[in-house]
Parts: sequence; structure tokens; C-alpha cells
Amino acid sequence: MGILLSVSALAAVLGAALGWVLGRRGAAPAERRAAGLQAQLDELAARPLVWEGRVELFDLLWFPEVTASPKTHRVSSVKAGLPHCRECAAPLSLVGGEWACAGCQARRPESVADVAVTDMIAKEALRQFLQRHPDYRAA
Ligand SMILES: [Zn+2]
Repeated sequence: MGILLSVSALAAVLGAALGWVLGRRGAAPAERRAAGLQAQLDELAARPLVWEGRVELFDLLWFPEVTASPKTHRVSSVKAGLPHCRECAAPLSLVGGEWACAGCQARRPESVADVAVTDMIAKEALRQFLQRHPDYRAA
């Protein structure tokens, strides 16, 4: 019984010593690793948040982009982007004063994406973004 106690006591002492040695040896790499992870977190926090919305207007699809800063929680830009075909979801291109779909050959007048329309798309995108991100503010 006395031998068993001393063996288990010795094991406890050795275990504690081993833990201390391993802890000491692991401290520097762990600190370096923590500093590296913190740097990655800081970089991620500084990276702007880019959110893509989806708006349907005048038989066309839009995928506007809202860019915001996760640090200041302020929106820095809102872009309407290009109109997309509702059938194919492909971006339309401006050909001879008309928006044309390369997929289904559908054509729309140039006015479906004039400044008044892109303003409406941008306002709707901002509204959707702020609804989904209530802790952010418009610029
Ligand atoms: Zn199409």
C-alpha cells in the first residue's frame, strides 16, 4: 500500500513536471500563433463587406452591390450594376441603343436602365442591406 501511494505520488509529481515543461516549451509558439491569428482577424475586420442584393424591376433582374466597412458600420458605396435577363439571369449588353440578352436574344429599350432606374435599384439595394444589417448606417 505504501509503495502504491509513493508510485502514484511520484507519477503525479512527474506529470506536473512534464506538464510544466511542455507548457513552457509550448508557450512561445502558442503566443506566436495567437499573434498571427489576431493579425488575420484584424485584416478581416478591415476588409470591406460586399453584399449582393437581388432586385426585379421592369421585367429585368439586377444584382446591386452594397459595400460597407465592418469597422465603422457605414455604407461606402452602392452600385446598381448591369441589368440581367429575367429568363436567363445573364447580364445584358448595350447593342445599338438596346439592351440585348446573348442567351435568348431578348431586347429591351435603353431607357430600362437609365439613371432614374439605376437610382431606384441603388435605393432598393440600400434598403434591403440596412434591413438585413440593422447595425449598419448609410454613408
Ligand atoms: Zn435571356
